[in-house]
Amino acid sequence: MVVDGRRLGTTGTRGMRVRRKDPKGARGSELGEALLALLAPALRLERAVLLVEEREGGRLVPVATHGAIRLQHVDPGAPLPDGPWSAVLPLAIGGRTTGLLLLARADGAPLPPGDRQVAEQLAEAAAGLVDHRRLSTELAHARELLARADRLAALGTLAAGIAHEVRNPLVTIRTFIQLLPERLHDEEFRTSFRDMALGEIDRICGLISDLLSFARPAPVELEPTDLNAIVGEIVRLLDPEARKSNVTLDCRDEVTLPPVIGDEAKVKQVLMNVVLNAIQASEPRGHVEVSTQVQESAAGARCVIAISDTGPGLSPTVAERIFEPFFTTKDSGSGLGLFIARRIMSEHGGDIRTVAGARGGAVFLLEFPASGEGRNGAE
Ligand code: ADP
Repeated sequence: MVVDGRRLGTTGTRGMRVRRKDPKGARGSELGEALLALLAPALRLERAVLLVEEREGGRLVPVATHGAIRLQHVDPGAPLPDGPWSAVLPLAIGGRTTGLLLLARADGAPLPPGDRQVAEQLAEAAAGLVDHRRLSTELAHARELLARADRLAALGTLAAGIAHEVRNPLVTIRTFIQLLPERLHDEEFRTSFRDMALGEIDRICGLISDLLSFARPAPVELEPTDLNAIVGEIVRLLDPEARKSNVTLDCRDEVTLPPVIGDEAKVKQVLMNVVLNAIQASEPRGHVEVSTQVQESAAGARCVIAISDTGPGLSPTVAERIFEPFFTTKDSGSGLGLFIARRIMSEHGGDIRTVAGARGGAVFLLEFPASGEGRNGAE
């Protein structure tokens, strides 16, 4: 690049210390640094600093510096610290000053007109960079707000559903309490009231913990996790439940499953929910099978847990809605299990989806990216 008869380039910039001051606006700072790196040797500057508004109308803060710069910020209208400065050039966007380019030679002498003209041209370019930086910051902020709004909308849906779910059992409990004085000596009434009230209160507590686990998810604790071990544990845990419903529960795991990076407690929560659903969907003498496998694809290896049952399967209308909060076809269901399961799977960079089972039942697939570390038998 040639400006005003002088070659501006990266040569001659070796040994210059240009510091990045603003990790958030990193792209804008990098461009600011590049600009000072061009300007300093070309104009024989000892020090230079590019300052931009922290926020509209606010104080100016350095985003790139060259040489020994002590100033931390410049308040609007305040005298310039850290002088003497050879040139003070405003950066203007749409007629408004949004930053300053301060340049100093060793003696602090003013820049000759030719050099000043070069500096002014570069100040103009810098103003564009500042604008670019502001735009990217605003864009990042807007993206953050959108993500938050999305989450709040989901929370709103959840809270509305929970309020509805909580009101019905409370109405029942209230009716029983109203009847209590006249039935106080009725032992059977007292016992059934106690059982009913405790059952309903447990259900409300369960709903509230589901809501809290969505609103304030416990931090995911990621570590290499053995999916086969988790499958074995959950199958053992739920076996009595399956027997109670006269359903057989088996597991078939692949020996060479690589570890996945996951939060064991959360993976167990997902698997427990899906296997319980499969048991509940199966008729007596039905069969639930949990198997694991590795699938290789161009995107890398995935460890998959498949849960298949011999229940009625998922009609297209049900399949479309099962991950929605509060979608349930059960009398005592909350409809939150699969909704939360999907969120946990995406926290793991994985996915949960359904496919039709060969025997007519449902198949749920939990897919995790394999960590690639210590793959048993694969390395
Ligand atoms: P809940 O179990 O409280 O209803 P879930 O979110 O776990 O909530 O499940 C939502 C709905 O998905 C269930 O009510 C049921 O209709 C359907 N579902 C889940 N698993 C199966 C399955 N294995 N077979 C058939 N339907 C299922």
